Amino acid sequence: MPKPRKNTRGEKSDFSREEKLKFENKKLKREVAQLRRTIKKMDVDRYHNIQDIVNQTREDEAEAKATSKKMLAKWKCHECSEGHMAYVPVSRKDGMFYYRKCTECDNRTKMKKETKDTEKS
Ligand SMILES: [Zn+2]
Repeated sequence: MPKPRKNTRGEKSDFSREEKLKFENKKLKREVAQLRRTIKKMDVDRYHNIQDIVNQTREDEAEAKATSKKMLAKWKCHECSEGHMAYVPVSRKDGMFYYRKCTECDNRTKMKKETKDTEKS
């Protein structure tokens, strides 16, 4: 039989080791539980983030569609009633200009200087 290793606790060595293991075990279990909670929360957060992004993207898309529809209606060509007046930017030495040209016929507007209020669509 091997001689039990002596330490300051002498006879209590095995008992305290068991206690220590129990304590470690408890600690580990607590840590695992905490990690599980953290992961769960992370997943939830991530899920919400993804949901937010998806919702935002959907909203943006819907808005972009609505806007482009509105713009198409607004810039509808009065000559052919089929196309719309597309924005055509023209860069010149004296600044940025633009005109609008129908996507279906030859109807186009005069060249105008671009201002900050110019609708570029
Ligand atoms: Zn037209």
